[in-house]
Amino acid sequence: MRLLIFLWALPTTLIGVAVGLIWLLSGAKLRIANGVLEIHGGWVGYWLMRQSGFAAMALGHVVLGCSSGVLEQLRPHEYIHVRQAERWGILFVPAYLLAGLWQAMKGRHIYYDNPFEREAFAAEGIAKEMARGVDS
Ligand SMILES: [Zn+2]
Repeated sequence: MRLLIFLWALPTTLIGVAVGLIWLLSGAKLRIANGVLEIHGGWVGYWLMRQSGFAAMALGHVVLGCSSGVLEQLRPHEYIHVRQAERWGILFVPAYLLAGLWQAMKGRHIYYDNPFEREAFAAEGIAKEMARGVDS
């Protein structure tokens, strides 16, 4: 079953691998954890953070972070996007983009009101509360 899920998410993962290779060439570090390639650091990540406020993103089974510290902090959020990519497979990127555009067309925020982001932010909050030992 894990193999089927991996294959279903593979088109998105391959985009992540292509972007990740660019990051690695810029000096980023690679770590494999929980079946996910985690790539952080390098001047591309640093430059993106400076230019756009980018911190981290997930593309299939690849998670990219501008630094190891940021990646550590945002891992629960990004892993929700990994699970979403496993659920949506080849449809993940178009569904994510269309969901954001739909929110923008309704006068809402293209990023914060995107249902994929809302799910990730909600789960991130739960994970942080669990890490602090707070019942919710
Ligand atoms: Zn997100």
